[in-house]
Amino acid sequence: MEVKCPICAKQVVWAPTSEYRPFCSKKCQLIDLGEWAAEDRKIAGKPAEDGRPTEFDVEEIEAMLAQQSDDFFKH
Ligand SMILES: [Zn+2]
Repeated sequence: MEVKCPICAKQVVWAPTSEYRPFCSKKCQLIDLGEWAAEDRKIAGKPAEDGRPTEFDVEEIEAMLAQQSDDFFKH
């Protein structure tokens, strides 16, 4: 069985080896998590400049998640 990554629409095999399913990669998973972070910034009055996640955003989110939950990605 295969599913499409909700972020980049790449085919992802739905199997235990696909660690980040339904996302194709950790990056897409983080981008998805970043959707709410972007919303949060908008509410706070600081809209994203172009409305699209960037490499910088992914790193920022990753750092934020690491602070909030050290073992979130280790399970
Ligand atoms: Zn993807």
